[in-house]
Amino acid sequence: MHATSHIQDRYVQPEPTMKKPTIGKCKLCKETKELNFEHIPPRSAYNKETRYYTVNQLDYLKNAKEYAFEGLKPKSKKHQGGLGNYSFCENCNGFLGSNYVRTYKKFAQIAMRIILSNDKKIKSYEFDISDINLLNFLKQITAIFIASNSLLFTESYPELIEFVRNKNQNELPNRYRFYMYLNNEGQARNGHIHFTNHYGTVCEFAFPPFGFVLSFDNPNQLMKLSEITNFKYYDKINMVNKLPIILNKYPTYYPIPLDFRSENELNGST
Ligand SMILES: [Zn+2]
Repeated sequence: MHATSHIQDRYVQPEPTMKKPTIGKCKLCKETKELNFEHIPPRSAYNKETRYYTVNQLDYLKNAKEYAFEGLKPKSKKHQGGLGNYSFCENCNGFLGSNYVRTYKKFAQIAMRIILSNDKKIKSYEFDISDINLLNFLKQITAIFIASNSLLFTESYPELIEFVRNKNQNELPNRYRFYMYLNNEGQARNGHIHFTNHYGTVCEFAFPPFGFVLSFDNPNQLMKLSEITNFKYYDKINMVNKLPIILNKYPTYYPIPLDFRSENELNGST
């Protein structure tokens, strides 16, 4: 694997609490404490030395094409050192680290290896995930969405907190549905909640090698994506020897939820 081949400049929309370590309310335990810098995704999953700019959301939307394809660089300063923000206290940060992060890293390494060792044009992969603890993986994804959004997010969706904080809990109401895809092209997506006409309420997070969508109160399955809601039942399925998963690979050029148009499609040359 070429260690540097996935490194590129990324654009992220600003987080109000991004810069300084601060006393604040932890988004997981809701206690007021000193907050730790939380790498989103985990530092060990290709987020150690990410180079990024913070971009105003409107500016980003208005100039999406210029940013994606025409070499426009934001006027803001370039940062380096991993994406993330001050979301969790030291305890909660440590809890995630010792319970879920290693699983995420392991799956990320497998996925990245598969993407990089195959032809770029391949758009769908099937591989075996029987040695991944899928419940832990789903909990880490949930933690990513909690960390990416404001404190208010979990006031509307409190079960997500319980799901992350109790490592044995495998129950989560059916209103929450999770999806994933592979991603190694385009820009990061920040996990913020969006209210869309087509897909209802969704959060989408993308950072190579993965993209995740959390969908709320939508009885319809989101097409094009692999649903992974059943990972919560991992305890009941972990006796099988082989567990295949099929994941599509999508580019994420524009900051629009579930917009997977390719470079050719966006430039009108298909
Ligand atoms: Zn905490």
